[in-house]
Amino acid sequence: MTTNRAFASFIKDLMPSDLKSGNPDTPVSVWKELDRIEGKKEDTVVSIFRTRGCSWYNYSSCSMCGYFNDIDLSITKENLYRQIDLVARSLNGIKVLKVFTSGSFLDPMEIPLDVRDYFMNTVGAKISTLLVESRTEYIREDNIADLGKYGPAIRMAIGLESSNDQIIANSINKGSTFAKYKVSAITARKLGFTVRTYLLFKPPFMTEKAAISDMIHSINDIDGLTDDISVNPMNIQKNTFVEYLWKKHLYRPPRLWSLARILLETRKHGRTVISYPTGGNKERGVHNSKPDRDLLDLIVGSSLTQDFDQLESYYKKSDLRPYEQEIELESRLVSDMDIDYISKRSEGYSIII
Ligand code: SF4
Repeated sequence: MTTNRAFASFIKDLMPSDLKSGNPDTPVSVWKELDRIEGKKEDTVVSIFRTRGCSWYNYSSCSMCGYFNDIDLSITKENLYRQIDLVARSLNGIKVLKVFTSGSFLDPMEIPLDVRDYFMNTVGAKISTLLVESRTEYIREDNIADLGKYGPAIRMAIGLESSNDQIIANSINKGSTFAKYKVSAITARKLGFTVRTYLLFKPPFMTEKAAISDMIHSINDIDGLTDDISVNPMNIQKNTFVEYLWKKHLYRPPRLWSLARILLETRKHGRTVISYPTGGNKERGVHNSKPDRDLLDLIVGSSLTQDFDQLESYYKKSDLRPYEQEIELESRLVSDMDIDYISKRSEGYSIII
């Protein structure tokens, strides 16, 4: 089963119909950040192009995705050319560029082929490595084979989210499958590109314990299919299904301790697992009961260097009992309710696990 129609339709109904975006001639955002794509910690430029959005929005959206908040259906090729020129001027000598859209860079309806060609000639000539994101259906030989001719090494980032098709359909509403991911990852690598795989840590309808186990299984399942794996803990975006649950206290983002545990448990020579959480230590992002700046820094730092010793030592010397009790309690509830919220509401009562 690829989709759960009732779920897809519910998510679609939550998407606002009067979306307004900013200036069509400028990307949604351009910034500089560290990453590890060429086997070392390095500066990268990140650009989010303002486009007409993901093809999946015509039907529904992924349960956590709020990128539709930045789309503009009236975007023309001329707007895209101007955005490309602006990105080309923003590189400042940085040789690694990550290009996001509110969908798929490789979707010809979103980035037409002549615009893609203009992008590769204008920006491609200035960089050594390019990362682009795409849904699986666009990573086909006929659509991507000629991308290799422009020069930069290309990493294709694919949102698999989980290797479990039940989770993909019934928690994420991705409109894809593990089998489709495998075909696209193999196709990309056969054509000389590298692959980054995104996994979503703690989609809705899962307890934290089940979500940790899903990440560990998924990482093992994709060994050998991908050059690196990015574990993306849930970050609650506006107008999404996950926000709908969260506002009703029926969802809590995962804990930093759990993310650290996934990284430590999946460490393996020759395998690169990274995590750069968005909204870390914030209510809408990955967070423990109390903010922990050091832990977040160690997670990001070890992802960049692939040296997990300091993270491991911090993890081992910390008192994890309250965290373990919390996720144990959560696993006994009939739904993934927000334990922090329930604890605050029940102050004065004692919870017996
Ligand atoms: S495929 Fe990507 S852009 Fe499209 S709805 Fe899902 S997460 Fe959002």
